[in-house]
Amino acid sequence: MTLNFPRGSGAFSRAALGLLLVACATNPVTGKRELSLVSESQEIQMGLQAAKEAATQMGVYPDSQLQRYVNALGMPMAKASERPDLPWSFTVIDDPMVNAFALPGGPLFVTRGILAYMNSEAELVSVLGHEIGHVTAKHSVSQMSKSQLAQIGLVGAMIVKPELQQFGNLGSQALGLMFMKFGRDDETEADDLGFRYMTKASYDPAEMTEMFRTLARTSAGSESTPEWLSTHPDPGNRVNKTQERIAAWTRPAGALKVNRDAFLQRIDGLIFGEDPRQGFFQQQVFYHPQLRFRFDFPSGWRTQNAPSQVAGVSTAQDAIVVLSSAGATAPAQAASQFMSQQGIQSIGSSNNSINGMPATVAQFRAQTEQAVIAGYAAFIQMDGATYQILAYTDQSRISSYDGVFRGAIGSFQRVTDTRVLSVKPQRVRLVKLPSAMTLTQFQQQYPSAIPLEQLALINGLDSATSSMPAGSWVKRVVAE
Ligand SMILES: [Zn+2]
Repeated sequence: MTLNFPRGSGAFSRAALGLLLVACATNPVTGKRELSLVSESQEIQMGLQAAKEAATQMGVYPDSQLQRYVNALGMPMAKASERPDLPWSFTVIDDPMVNAFALPGGPLFVTRGILAYMNSEAELVSVLGHEIGHVTAKHSVSQMSKSQLAQIGLVGAMIVKPELQQFGNLGSQALGLMFMKFGRDDETEADDLGFRYMTKASYDPAEMTEMFRTLARTSAGSESTPEWLSTHPDPGNRVNKTQERIAAWTRPAGALKVNRDAFLQRIDGLIFGEDPRQGFFQQQVFYHPQLRFRFDFPSGWRTQNAPSQVAGVSTAQDAIVVLSSAGATAPAQAASQFMSQQGIQSIGSSNNSINGMPATVAQFRAQTEQAVIAGYAAFIQMDGATYQILAYTDQSRISSYDGVFRGAIGSFQRVTDTRVLSVKPQRVRLVKLPSAMTLTQFQQQYPSAIPLEQLALINGLDSATSSMPAGSWVKRVVAE
């Protein structure tokens, strides 16, 4: 069941407007003329807008030194590329997923998750080079032109079938751009370009092979497929292809950079995995240590913690409870704003307090495509911030969920338990080996909070039994 609240459709109208400017543009990498529905200034505008949304939704990793480091590696390659004048930017986002993506026009993102799996500066440069390649070869522009055509198709469908309108609103434009999938040919071309850019910057392309090996191992293991692989279809055997590129390439006279130790020291202290300070579940209870609240979802419900909201769905999948932020607007005002939305009918509201905090709880009915839904919209203020709790079901079932919804809303409370408030994330820590040892021995001497197989993965090793020389830096993951 989806409840469709009217959203700003500015992004869409801009995209539709762009269609008036169909143009034939020259691809900067191939030199070929190709049909483009997006001009360069539109490409830049869309990318900047999407970058802003990506940074807000996913969060920028709060380490300015690390941000400057990644920027300093990416920028010279971008400036030396076929499109040096784009507003390039390089940002580490606070996301445990193993992922990297480029937005149209130059904003480029790597997750802290993928950094944890890298073992040299050259590996990082190979990923940055690949993503720069997607931008210089205008892969997203040609994809966007295709998706705009798809959207036009939807607009056509809307006129005939109004219930399809919801799909026009699904997901923001930024999300669409972030999860844009390229074809195998585009991926191969991005690999080719990444190889070219990294070697031009005097990095050892053998490290590109290492990066692909790690990604392949990560997806082969019990771990879920890394995001970067799911949005980047494997263009055949990337390891072999890179070796072929190396064989065909004229090695320059000077030394090639790998910079293993320099990179590893940069990521010493990097947060690893989910950051519990940004909210975690213990059975049905959701705790948010940074915002100092807890919220109980009904027992047996399936729950999900996403960056912008926490949600629970009933076992029968016929009721939903969603907790999100309503900014700094006072509860009564936030409630009336909610009720003023088109299609929403107020059944009554009351201003009261929930566990000592000012709150407005409103009952509503709304017409959706499939049915009339009914439920509660509660707004609770704590420490100057207002939280919104939406609880709704089909109108015919509201009487059976009424008590459940009230119970959930009434569970919102301040957390004082210091064990919850002081919860800490796991971090990558580097150890300089005092003597040669295997990873198995390392794990005994310097225990990690993750299994040995995963430890091998993040250290770029395919075996825990091969010996690592004295003096080398090895990653461990510790819960502090
Ligand atoms: Zn790619």
